[in-house]
Amino acid sequence: MKSWTSRPVPDLPGSMPALRLYDTALGRVMEVEQHAEQSMYVCGITPYDATHMGHAASYVAFDLLNRAWRDAGVRVDYVQNVTDIDDPLLERATATGVDWRKLAQSQIELFHTDMDALNVVAPDHYIGAVESIPDIVPAIERLIADGVAYRVPGSDGEPDGDVYYDVEAAGKRSDATDAWTLGDVSRLGEAEMLALFAERGGDPGRQGKRHPLDPLLWRVARDGEPSWPGASLGDGRPGWHIECTVIAQKYLPAPFTVQGGGSDLVFPHHEMGAGHAYSLSGVPLASHYAHAGMVGLDGEKMSKSKGNLVLVSKLRAAGEEPAAIRLAILAHHYRSDWSWTDGEFEAAKDRLARWRKALEGAPAGSAAPLLASMRQELADDLNAPAAIAVVDHWANEALKNNGESSPADRTVVRDAVNALLGVEL
Ligand code: ZN
Repeated sequence: MKSWTSRPVPDLPGSMPALRLYDTALGRVMEVEQHAEQSMYVCGITPYDATHMGHAASYVAFDLLNRAWRDAGVRVDYVQNVTDIDDPLLERATATGVDWRKLAQSQIELFHTDMDALNVVAPDHYIGAVESIPDIVPAIERLIADGVAYRVPGSDGEPDGDVYYDVEAAGKRSDATDAWTLGDVSRLGEAEMLALFAERGGDPGRQGKRHPLDPLLWRVARDGEPSWPGASLGDGRPGWHIECTVIAQKYLPAPFTVQGGGSDLVFPHHEMGAGHAYSLSGVPLASHYAHAGMVGLDGEKMSKSKGNLVLVSKLRAAGEEPAAIRLAILAHHYRSDWSWTDGEFEAAKDRLARWRKALEGAPAGSAAPLLASMRQELADDLNAPAAIAVVDHWANEALKNNGESSPADRTVVRDAVNALLGVEL
């Protein structure tokens, strides 16, 4: 599937120091191993309600990582999927009387326009679930053949043949130190996992499952639902976790460097994806797992049912500048949960205007120390709020500057804010 088009990222003098990042599976900040190439998979949207502020914050967070690596002279291989078939998409299509394909298509286009506006560097591969089904089917067949997946008999009006992943069997398969067992990524206990599983689309009570936490791999065709050829599985459609696993394994090295997404993807999505990948390859899916915090509105959880979604496209339609939206997002550390407020958005707009005004008075010799400090902050677990504070300090000095301004410093500062923070001044 076609991705959006990235705007150029300016080259800066010097380079980013070694990067430290919080790894969810380790539960601490660690230094990312340095390689000439790094690879990243960030879970994409299910195309409805795009692009709300939670989406935007998550993709901007991993865009910071992408930009930090690029600044370190690293080649970045970046893959993102789009879950263009899944229950929530079908539910929304039915509820609104729109064909699910049309809904997906329109939301994907809107998402791309928003990402472009927010200056998020595009993935190298942007892959849909539907187009991946021919790769997903043989992977599920292999899991069944290897005894870590099984068919569930029909009951309670459900047809015969849905395929589930056997978390217990999969967890016992290897005693290698890098082998996956349930809880390795999320570091959660079973009671917490059960609660989240039910809350986030899992079906712990499904009759015939071996373990309540076994996730769906293949849903056989139902009347009125779209389905695709599944060879020995029968017609149907894939589960969400196997979709991302197969896409990541096809397009990225094993293991790839960072698996990213919002913190609501830690369990079950990334936990199960790690299990699927290990079962399929005997190699971990990713070296590290990183997660962005959740965004609310005025202190409440943001959701369609509450009617309080802040959409990037709506702000843009109201004439708001995307660079200001991006700056409002970056004022919060990517790992923290935070709330969108009008007050903070106004502050971001003021800051953007102040930085632009300050460029006019860029003091000679001020750019190099600014750049070094921004890099230091961003290398420390992508601390954008601290990098912003560095630019604020620089701007205050520049605005007080009554002497000669330096065109060379002005260029480096403008490029640094663009290349590292993705904010165009
Ligand atoms: Zn995913």
